[in-house]
Amino acid sequence: MRFDIITCLPGLLDGPFNDSILKRARDKKLVDIHVHDLRNFAHNKHRQVDDYAYGGGAGMVLMIEPIYKCIKKLKSQRSYDDIIYMSPDGDLFNQVEANKLSLKKNIIILCGHYKGVDERIREHLVTREISIGNYVLSGGELAAAVVVDAVTRLIPGVLSDESSALTDSFQDNLVAPPVYTRPAEFEGMDVPPILLSGNQKTIETWRFEQAIERTKKRRPDMLDEE
Ligand code: SAH
Repeated sequence: MRFDIITCLPGLLDGPFNDSILKRARDKKLVDIHVHDLRNFAHNKHRQVDDYAYGGGAGMVLMIEPIYKCIKKLKSQRSYDDIIYMSPDGDLFNQVEANKLSLKKNIIILCGHYKGVDERIREHLVTREISIGNYVLSGGELAAAVVVDAVTRLIPGVLSDESSALTDSFQDNLVAPPVYTRPAEFEGMDVPPILLSGNQKTIETWRFEQAIERTKKRRPDMLDEE
């Protein structure tokens, strides 16, 4: 799977893809992540990619031309399943969306900044819009990193134990059961003895029951979903 991320601040994406699970996934060529600096597509030597909003008001707006040029170049090289604009008023991102996206091949993610992007980009160039939550970030970069992370860990082979992604929260509409590691006893706090029993079947049943209990307590809304 390939992600092409378009941003005017590529430095914001230096960190998230260069450590841990995402780095390993890239090294193993299970995911291909390319960050494109919008300023390389600017029309003047000042590398300008934003301008004042028509009609006035505070906040700069990302211009259509550099974004158009960047998307055009990428589309001339391969076809894309989706061109996603990260936006606080887009479809709310969740595990179901992550699962669906993980089945795609090539995705472009456009990050807005400042006041956002020229509306014509949203009308004519992007195929869908995704929000990571009901709050406003300074730019789409962190949101894009969230989507790429959530999707990449679902690609077969990325997690060392593939079933691990399936036992995470939100798969099967349940939150995850509690987990423990050594020591078995710490300052009077014990690990549930069943986990030390060695009986895998009882342990799985216990985990399932715990997941249901937790979901009832913390996220009863999830049990109402089909
Ligand atoms: N004026 C816009 C917000 C702009 S925030 C509004 O009120 O809707 C700047 C950029 O950050 C946006 O263009 C978008 O790409 C990104 N962004 C902000 N909040 C986001 C969120 N919750 N989810 C996804 N992207 C977000």
